[in-house]
Amino acid sequence: MALLQISEPGMSTVPHQHRLAVGIDLGTTNSLVASVRSGIAEALPDVNGDLLLPSVVRYNEMNSVDVGKTALAHASSDPLNTIASVKRLLGRSVEEMDWVANHLPYEFDQSDPVMPAVITRQGNKNPIEISAEILKVLKDRAEQTLGGELQGAVVTVPAYFDEAQRQATRDAARIAGLEVMRLINEPTAAAVAYGLDQTEEGVIVVYDLGGGTFDVSVLRLQKGVFEVIATGGDTALGGDDFDAVILEWVLQQLPGLDVSSHKLMRALSMQVREVKETLTTEPECNFEVGIDSPSKLTLTRTVFDELIHPLVKKTIRTCRKVLRDAEIELDQVMDTVMVGGATRVPLVQAEVSEFFGREPKTDIDPDQVVAIGAALQANVLVGNSQDDQVLLLDVTPLSLGLETMGGLVEVIIPRNTTLPVARAQEFTTFKDGQTAMSIHVLQGERDLVSECRSLAHFELRGFPPMVAGAAKIRVSFQVDADGLLNVEAEEVSSNTRASVVVKPSYGLTDEQVEAMLRASVEHADTDMRQRQLLEHRVEADRVIEAITAALKADQELLNESETADIVAAVADLEQAKAGEDGDDITNAIEAVEQAAATFVARRMNASVREVMAGKTVAEFTEE
Ligand code: ADP
Ligand code: MG
Repeated sequence: MALLQISEPGMSTVPHQHRLAVGIDLGTTNSLVASVRSGIAEALPDVNGDLLLPSVVRYNEMNSVDVGKTALAHASSDPLNTIASVKRLLGRSVEEMDWVANHLPYEFDQSDPVMPAVITRQGNKNPIEISAEILKVLKDRAEQTLGGELQGAVVTVPAYFDEAQRQATRDAARIAGLEVMRLINEPTAAAVAYGLDQTEEGVIVVYDLGGGTFDVSVLRLQKGVFEVIATGGDTALGGDDFDAVILEWVLQQLPGLDVSSHKLMRALSMQVREVKETLTTEPECNFEVGIDSPSKLTLTRTVFDELIHPLVKKTIRTCRKVLRDAEIELDQVMDTVMVGGATRVPLVQAEVSEFFGREPKTDIDPDQVVAIGAALQANVLVGNSQDDQVLLLDVTPLSLGLETMGGLVEVIIPRNTTLPVARAQEFTTFKDGQTAMSIHVLQGERDLVSECRSLAHFELRGFPPMVAGAAKIRVSFQVDADGLLNVEAEEVSSNTRASVVVKPSYGLTDEQVEAMLRASVEHADTDMRQRQLLEHRVEADRVIEAITAALKADQELLNESETADIVAAVADLEQAKAGEDGDDITNAIEAVEQAAATFVARRMNASVREVMAGKTVAEFTEE
């Protein structure tokens, strides 16, 4: 499957043949799968009728794997083999996992710094494998309910997920046997579920309060494409913190409670969650705490609201900050969409309404809204949609860039940028009098031209000769919604133009994309050193060229030994340039600059004197 492919109206749709496609929300706390059936997107239940699958995986004593409720039931009795919140580990290296490692009870094998694994009784399990177990269960569930093999899936990821985390999600899905047609951002999926992509253009805020995380995203919708303009949140704030607040309150009410009893505490942690969820619909909740001689307690919503008020206020402060980052005023926000189970809490809805000055969208179940949006997108991508209007939400699978001096790639459009996109950058000439420039368009994640895929070569010719660095060559890259790349180069002062159209997805298989990504990770370090070395060499060339030209023009300003010093320093620089050490080159450049310092000063004085004498000006006008 080509990553840039977009289903085109009238092409992929075979009439009367409905293809099975699903949307999957792989959540930190809960995961679920949805699909479009008889024109309606809905979450698919398991055999017990449950829609939510707790994102918990247990490697049990029988050498098999439990996922969901059964696994969750063992979370506190078998913590080392029962992995919850694996999403927090996905695509994370040892260094990046500090926070998580301090908050989760698992033991990690950190011998692989790129992908640390959890040590379980069934051996080491990395986060990709663990996530794949959850996805497998959802795949089976979907195939059973839908009665056939799945053709494709759209999996959602948080908007802030980086390359590694997205790739890890993709890999997990592949291990689970899913054909991932696309990864889409969770807030985008939520907006799609509400059909916001079909309506006007504008700014949408998605407020997502899950079990353990809070995310707020500002999206801009334009011509059916959502652009994430800012994200923010708190990776340690969610509905589970409301549970913790209730637990604290209970312990305050009942100081005699035996907190050392694991059994009691386990029961209590389940109980407080139920209390919280009851208070969503009821004004108060009566419950009994304790095993042998239970005590009766009543928590009212009023008290609960007071308890959680500081936490909710914190999320509102984050909203304010993210809007500021996005440079969006409150009155520019067209809609607010609520996502995540914890947004059911009435105080959360009240505070969000008050802050944004309008009722947020809550009609679609906040647990399901992300999966539903993903299902709608999957339905279009697999070719079931009869509409001519196809959602255009796509990203560039690999970075697109240009060759610059020294065989380096300058990225113009980074990988995973939403399509369509247009970006431009200015370049200049390297030599005096240059009248043409060769443009080499590349695709890939490596720093070196030789390691990337060449997409096109073209030339911008016929701009007037100028001093090196004076020409302004603006190169713009445009990728349309179909993944077609158009590159245009223009010398700005003379209006000289040239352009070329390339189709980047052409002929690149998934395997190739993967191999390139893998290589970019493996070689990141050497690439960086190579890049620095090449940059130093380019700088060396510039210095040598400048000093040689100056010597040619004004040698009479120097005596013999001064000339010899400069020539020697230049020779040293030539030698350093041929070597492999960037620092040597830097030192040699400094030596040349030092040797030439007096020369440069004299040239400057001389030219000032000439100008004072009116000579230079006269010469200029005569020419
Ligand atoms: P995630 O996106 O992290 O997987 P979810 O969106 O599934 O999480 O949200 C889970 C959280 O929502 C839990 O803290 C759960 O207790 C809370 N939640 C679910 N239903 C309700 C409810 N009716 N009232 C209050 N909180 C709820
Ligand atoms: Mg979620």
